[in-house]
Amino acid sequence: MAEAEFDYDLFTIGGGSGGVRASRISASHGAKVAIAEEYRMGGTCVIRGCVPKKMLVYASMFAEELGHAAHKGWTLGEKSFDWPTLRDFVNSDVDRLEGLYDGTLGNAGVEVYSERAVITGPNSVRLASGKEITAKKILVATGGWPMLPEFDGNEHCITSNEIFHVEEFPQRLMVLGGGYIAVEFAGIFNALGGDVTLVNRTDTILRTYDSDIVDRLPVVMKARGMDLQLGTVVDSVAKNDDGSFTVTLTNGVTKQVDRILVATGRKPNSEGLGLETAGVELGKAGEILVDAYSKTSCDSIYAVGDVTNRVQLTPVAIREGHAFADTVFGNNPRAVDHSCIPSAVFSQPSIASVGLTEAEARKEHGDIAVYTSDFRPMKNIFSDRMERGLYKMVCHGETGQVLGLHMIGPESAEIIQAAAVAIKAKLTKADFDATTAIHPSMAEELVLLK
Ligand code: NDP
Repeated sequence: MAEAEFDYDLFTIGGGSGGVRASRISASHGAKVAIAEEYRMGGTCVIRGCVPKKMLVYASMFAEELGHAAHKGWTLGEKSFDWPTLRDFVNSDVDRLEGLYDGTLGNAGVEVYSERAVITGPNSVRLASGKEITAKKILVATGGWPMLPEFDGNEHCITSNEIFHVEEFPQRLMVLGGGYIAVEFAGIFNALGGDVTLVNRTDTILRTYDSDIVDRLPVVMKARGMDLQLGTVVDSVAKNDDGSFTVTLTNGVTKQVDRILVATGRKPNSEGLGLETAGVELGKAGEILVDAYSKTSCDSIYAVGDVTNRVQLTPVAIREGHAFADTVFGNNPRAVDHSCIPSAVFSQPSIASVGLTEAEARKEHGDIAVYTSDFRPMKNIFSDRMERGLYKMVCHGETGQVLGLHMIGPESAEIIQAAAVAIKAKLTKADFDATTAIHPSMAEELVLLK
């Protein structure tokens, strides 16, 4: 129950993965909780990120699978792809998931305000409707927002927020950026039959990943028909009479496209939230600065997820939200361990990683041993696809402890999740080698590395 002087024990701003988890668990610990969400419950991951994106990845893979099936005894009718059907299916499933999030909060006894809330002091918020609310603790879980680089005509571009809703299939798509979102959407629209150009400011895409792994991707992307314009940026975009756009790059290349998707990073959503009224400190990128328990510079205000810009990943926001609830309302103070977090890029083929890259391990430990398997997965042989997979294990030179594992190839995300348990548990190369292979599989390469 809330202490008499406050309306709520906890008021959460933002109904994304972190905010919803924190609210639900706080309520289960007995706190009186309310949450405000100005758009749709579920946040970036559910509404306009991971979940609908993964559905598009699956849908785009049918094209290839259907092609191979025809050579393996299947008789298929004429194939055609209809974007509105896929788009509407994905969006209706997002509606369903949003309903589940609402239901979860209702079942947990969390009161929902479907409007914007801003902080007006250490223990108070004001809703868009004008209602003033007090709370013993406030949690900011407002996530992030796409960043748009400055250039003439940038108002003609869309972001990952809009791509799920475009009316017509963008037959000629230009993607700006070389990070997660750019690479994933380039792969999706290429596989769906689009003519994709990816533009990145440096020659290196996915630069936080191990270089041997990511070096493979541009080769595959080009082989799959994508145009990679690297080491260049957009100079200007002009809209044409027929609704298309002419993009001029600083390297002199000009292209006519139907859509331009900007994926050049996301910034913390901390503007206009009234944080200054409570003395909440921000970092250089606008991120809310927090301690290990997600507490801000104001004792009654906490922040979790992308707005803190620690690690911009849904499962991390969820952990931070859960740890906050246990710490503040569950009498179980605990900090989230941000080390050794596995991650994956749902590019085609996918990339996955956990732990240190070779360069990081060399810098940190000096003496390291690297093992690789460069192989053509049976799936690719069966499908007449020439692409090879690469698995790379980085180990401590003396102890053999696995410091990092990096992969490119089909199903990398699925495979690395299990291996990440072993790496988090500090197992050694010898432990991997002592494990019997599952044959034939791609994952068996992990216990046969040379
Ligand atoms: P990323 O940070 O992954 O990549 C941003 C890209 O844009 C980089 O290539 C960067 O280049 C480039 N860039 C940055 N600023 C500019 C600029 N001013 N002009 C031109 N290019 C620029 O961002 P995303 O938007 O792709 O994704 C945001 C976050 O969302 C990710 O960091 C990730 O945490 C999360 N995400 C995770 C996914 C997953 O887990 N599978 C999927 C999608 C998103 P440079 O390398 O030179 O900095």
